[in-house]
Amino acid sequence: MGHPTEVVQVYGRSQCRRAFEIRDFLSRSVVHFSWTAVDTDFDCTRLIGLPLTDAGLPIVDLPGGTRLRSPSVTEIANRLGWVKQPKLREYDVSIYGAGPAGLSAAVYAASEGLSVVVLERDAIGGQAGYSSLIEHYLGFPGGISGRELAERARQQAVSFGAELLLMRDGWRAQFEDNRVRTILNDGTTLVARSNICATGVEWRRLGLAREDEFIGRGLFYGAGTSEAPNCEDLEVFVVGGGNSASQAAMNLSAYAKHVTMLVRGTNLSATLSAYLEQRVTQQPNVTIRTCSRVTELDGTGSLTSIRIEDSRTGVAESVDTARLFVCIGGEPDTEWAAQTPVVRDHHGFLVTGSDLEESPRRSTWPLERTPFHLETAVPGSFAAGDVRRNSVRQVASAVGEGAMAVTFVHHYLSTVLA
Ligand SMILES: Cc1cc2nc3c(=O)[nH]c(=O)nc-3n(C[C@H](O)[C@H](O)[C@H](O)COP(=O)(O)OP(=O)(O)OC[C@H]3O[C@@H](n4cnc5c(N)ncnc54)[C@H](O)[C@@H]3O)c2cc1C
Repeated sequence: MGHPTEVVQVYGRSQCRRAFEIRDFLSRSVVHFSWTAVDTDFDCTRLIGLPLTDAGLPIVDLPGGTRLRSPSVTEIANRLGWVKQPKLREYDVSIYGAGPAGLSAAVYAASEGLSVVVLERDAIGGQAGYSSLIEHYLGFPGGISGRELAERARQQAVSFGAELLLMRDGWRAQFEDNRVRTILNDGTTLVARSNICATGVEWRRLGLAREDEFIGRGLFYGAGTSEAPNCEDLEVFVVGGGNSASQAAMNLSAYAKHVTMLVRGTNLSATLSAYLEQRVTQQPNVTIRTCSRVTELDGTGSLTSIRIEDSRTGVAESVDTARLFVCIGGEPDTEWAAQTPVVRDHHGFLVTGSDLEESPRRSTWPLERTPFHLETAVPGSFAAGDVRRNSVRQVASAVGEGAMAVTFVHHYLSTVLA
């Protein structure tokens, strides 16, 4: 996956979900691109040569002159040469997810001479790609954006020989003959002697009517790193009171006229880092509104207002806003495990190591030895980072677990070979 050095150009309507998905994907993939909002026939004819209805927006102009009309992100990744076939028939280790945990596992495994393939269904970086500034990651006293950290890790993994397969989704896993066979979304079967699941978590949604309708049209999940520059002079709202919501509020406050954080509880989250709490409470254009929850979304075509209920008084009011950012944590997407002996807890997190002792399905563990610390209920199948039950949910711990999982992969492979 080489990054284009020339600028990619994106044209689209300002409130278009697909245009947002494209901008967001390019931004998290650290591709230089220019964005031009085209909302009138006059602008569209001037820029594209056709009126809005005929132009096929959003349009993506790639370096080299290729013009794509209303492409999916997969098509863009394909045209940029990022979607590749696996090179080997069998790998020492297959890694699912290219967030901090998966990338770290890839760097350590490849640098230690294992044959490694990493599958990622979206952009490199996982949740960290949404983080505007990670301030406490070791070695970066001035902080580093999640995108940049991920891009550096990607380069490191590739330089050690790890294979990265983008826009690939691991759908089904079969464990047999000391191998994991994974069926991918395009029907390819990938075979490996061990695997590390580092698939993190997916955004939790508000669970409101019309939520789908407004995604990318005023409603965004995560810190809005790519959307912040489009919030110039707007009144924006952020749902959540933890680290990611506070980071989003700080990032958005650099552009927006005013940011209101809507916190469900009586205080900001108890797990909020002290440095972020201090920043967010002292930022003049950020207000923290506690005991508040969004109960309705409204607008025609795009979000124009939300309804907020105060849980102390039960009183609800409608407020005008064109931007709502939801940062209320996430849940693992581990449905695939239901068809396998891999054990999950009731939230879907993968249970590993000594935690398996407490699991009712403990009896499914087939070996005399106890499972390694990050090993799931299937020998040779490991979990690292946020997808794992009882993980710490930070970049540093995900990176640490990715590296640690590789040590266990070595132990496992040596016992299988012995
Ligand atoms: C906005 C925001 C700000 C944050 N700020 C900080 C911070 O300042 N400091 C800090 O320490 N932590 C921060 N965090 C938390 C940190 O980003 C996470 O703890 C960390 O990214 C977890 O890494 P992970 O690799 O376990 O999972 P993730 O980062 O979630 O990555 C998982 C990857 O797996 C992919 N995937 C999922 N399913 C599949 C599948 N079936 N097949 C293929 N690929 C799949 C996903 O697309 C994703 O790329 C922040 C999080 C957010 C959302």
